[in-house]
Amino acid sequence: EGLVLDDPSLLVERCLIGGRFVGDPVEPVVDPATGRTIARVPRLGAEAATAAVEQAQAAFPAWAARTAKERATVLRAWFEQIRAHRADLALILTSEQGKPLAEALGEIDYAAAFVEYYAEEAKRVAGETLASHRADARILVTREPIGVIGAITPWNFPAAMITRKVAPALAVGCTALVKPAPETPLTALALGELAVRAGLPPGVLNIVTGDAAAIGAVMTGHPAVRVVSFTGSTEVGRRLMAQAAPTVKRVALELGGNAPFIVFDDADLDAAVEGAIAAKFRNMGQTCVCANRLYVQDAVHDAFASRLATAIESLQVGPGTEPGVAQGPLINARALAKVEAHVADAVAGGATVALGGRRHPRGGTFYAPTLLIGATPTMRIAREETFGPVAALFRFTDEEEVIAQANASETGLAAYVYTRDLGRAFRVSEALEYGMVGLNTGLISTELAPFGGVKQSGHSREGSHHGLEDYCTLKYVLVAGL
Ligand code: ADP
Repeated sequence: EGLVLDDPSLLVERCLIGGRFVGDPVEPVVDPATGRTIARVPRLGAEAATAAVEQAQAAFPAWAARTAKERATVLRAWFEQIRAHRADLALILTSEQGKPLAEALGEIDYAAAFVEYYAEEAKRVAGETLASHRADARILVTREPIGVIGAITPWNFPAAMITRKVAPALAVGCTALVKPAPETPLTALALGELAVRAGLPPGVLNIVTGDAAAIGAVMTGHPAVRVVSFTGSTEVGRRLMAQAAPTVKRVALELGGNAPFIVFDDADLDAAVEGAIAAKFRNMGQTCVCANRLYVQDAVHDAFASRLATAIESLQVGPGTEPGVAQGPLINARALAKVEAHVADAVAGGATVALGGRRHPRGGTFYAPTLLIGATPTMRIAREETFGPVAALFRFTDEEEVIAQANASETGLAAYVYTRDLGRAFRVSEALEYGMVGLNTGLISTELAPFGGVKQSGHSREGSHHGLEDYCTLKYVLVAGL
């Protein structure tokens, strides 16, 4: 019922362990736009996760022993499969996640780009020889695959967060166990099906759905797993880091953000409005790099607010599969409740609702795109990630003041700055305690750049050649007696 795919076999309701699709479809996957169950997936736990780790462990030596070019060929075939099925994948993604179909297609292309990039990059993983301390010896440094990796991913980018971890890991010769978010397992399992069709050997990629805590505990506790790569909330990231301590595992964390978006009075206002819409309302505000605090300088504050209001009013709200829709439903009732609480708290603190500020007449988890004026640093919306379609405007006067406010956060993922003054552009982007800065742009994500944060936003980098490092280990061989 419901999902009409060109290739119906991409709707996979079983987990992938050791090259076989296993488990009973019991756990419902719900379309957030309609509340209807679109499919079911297995509810597996520690036993299945352990079996998957053992399959990955068994597959590791042969996969690691292949030449980089051979692994690249398989990854390239996976990329081609994803590209060929992009329409079906996007429809599956929108149906379980809610984002507009155009955005889902964008995500599938973005996800595929990581597979393509790391297929290419596999051939460029290199070591070095260093100056030796002995005349009769040479220092040889090689990069080796670290082993089995565990990847835990969130629901906001059901495809890209998987390929961004798995593609570099597989490229260097690691094997993987993936636990997708319970809200969005279907995109993950479809990617698994396509990996099998691409010729990925059994056990190299395993995907297990079910009990997050139990599967996570296997990943952090099993000695064969050498790195746990996690994208999600700071709270869960912190827990995984602690769980990984007894086995001294590497953890790669991409956690929450609370992005400042700063508009100086010399900015190109039209560009700033366009950037704010992209940075704030993409995925209904549910990305970790979404602008959360919009700081606007005095002289342009009112003009920016009125142009932004016009742009927000034009955002069409509805199911992601409906043509023209720019804003879908929020992922679930919990997300809706958080957005409502943040808006209520801001209003109680003196902010004005210029637009929205309430649930959307569509019902369900639809929320009206909102503009708040007069936000202040003590409000929840200033201190916590809202993860919803609420643009909160903070008025500021000078550069130092806004830098201090922007940095007054425990997180440090993405920041955005609009200015045409070259000196200010450098000063401010260097002063911001963030892993990424969008200067005169609201869109920063690409497979070609290192994505990641500082402070409690985590410390790993994904994308670009830096994205290989989490999955490599350096070996030093002293070649003596020459
Ligand atoms: P959100 O609140 O946005 O869903 P989470 O951090 O809770 O963010 O979820 C991100 C991922 O972490 C999901 O795949 C989820 O199932 C998983 N997860 C949640 N709790 C745990 C846990 N205790 N151990 C391992 N993974 C977990």
